[in-house]
Amino acid sequence: MQHKYARRANALEPSEMRLILSSSERPELISFAGGLPASELFPIEELKAASHAVLTDQGAASLQYTSTMGYIPLRQAVMERMQAIGIQSDLQQVMITSGSQQAIDLTGRVFLDEGDTVICESPTYLAAINAFNAYHANIVDVEMDEDGMKMDALERCLQENPQAKFIYTIPDFQNPTGRTLALERRKRMIELANQFDVLILEDDPYGAIRFSGTPIPPIKQFDTEGRVIYLSSFSKIFAPGLRLGWICAEEEILEKYAGFKESADMHTDGLAQQMTAKYMELYDLDAHIETIKAVYRERCETMLDCIANYFPENISFNKPEGGLFIWAELPDSMNAGDIALKCMKNNVAFVPGAPFYVKGPQKNTMRLNFSNSNPEQIKEGMKRIAEVLHSEFSS
Ligand code: PMP
Repeated sequence: MQHKYARRANALEPSEMRLILSSSERPELISFAGGLPASELFPIEELKAASHAVLTDQGAASLQYTSTMGYIPLRQAVMERMQAIGIQSDLQQVMITSGSQQAIDLTGRVFLDEGDTVICESPTYLAAINAFNAYHANIVDVEMDEDGMKMDALERCLQENPQAKFIYTIPDFQNPTGRTLALERRKRMIELANQFDVLILEDDPYGAIRFSGTPIPPIKQFDTEGRVIYLSSFSKIFAPGLRLGWICAEEEILEKYAGFKESADMHTDGLAQQMTAKYMELYDLDAHIETIKAVYRERCETMLDCIANYFPENISFNKPEGGLFIWAELPDSMNAGDIALKCMKNNVAFVPGAPFYVKGPQKNTMRLNFSNSNPEQIKEGMKRIAEVLHSEFSS
């Protein structure tokens, strides 16, 4: 079939990461590999009541085709949530998508011709790289430090790529690094975007999961020219299986997105949208998010303690104030991919950092997920990784 596939299909290689993720389903294995929320926190009983209410009150209408832009009460609820974090919008500027992943993909359809430049963080979210690659984008990455993308490096990159279409950034608790873009850098990014006339794709699925420190306003809050396309999602604050995300952008831009969304899936699952809107009417989503934050704070602290207590000394790691991930760096000479494979044999999984780099992968990096294991599992799993690391360090 090789000769039948489109070029974009042939570009998709089975990645090391997919291999680790697929084999991390063995029951004896403790996995810090995926980016899964804690499923024991999903509000099952509340969702049963919400779906019962929707199916009873709306009847057949709840199962009918619905609008491409999304279910109006859900869009309204999203608008209110964004207002609470300082993003003013009206209904025409909010669209519901099938997860924010669809919004990333639609961004490619709307903006990218073959060879167009996208600027992103180094490293960045793998599924965004793959989505932009499917549109044959020229992806250029910009160096980061603990405070996110470096603005002097971004400026140089924009000078070298003045035709860039957009900057893709995950400002809060980035995937994979858990890093957060500093306030001054957010303001500078907007200045640069205005100066060089590029758009910003602000992908913010984790911002609401801040369990310590002070919230930083989203980049969109500083946008005076309508050039920030803001994405977020119900996946990490509610349930990823419902596949509900949203875009907040200028109406004119959303019309383009809606055109392509119609050809992709007509509209986002109507029942899921109505159940979620009903849940927010009957219950307190913010209280639910507080529960998630408390659980993740404990898991993150447990994992950080384990790194400090069990891992060899010359491993550096960050202390995220939210989100789902810790990023660790081994000494330069070490390959986290090899260590990940040895860890799999020791019944513990994590993903090596290399696949998250567009180019020049730092092979000594690792991403550790803390949201999807309880503290006991975290302690046991981290001990298992530490065993492998100690034997590598002594060999
Ligand atoms: N953006 C980032 C940075 C992510 O990490 C993820 C999922 N892990 C997504 C987008 C997609 O999430 P969803 O489609 O579930 O909203």
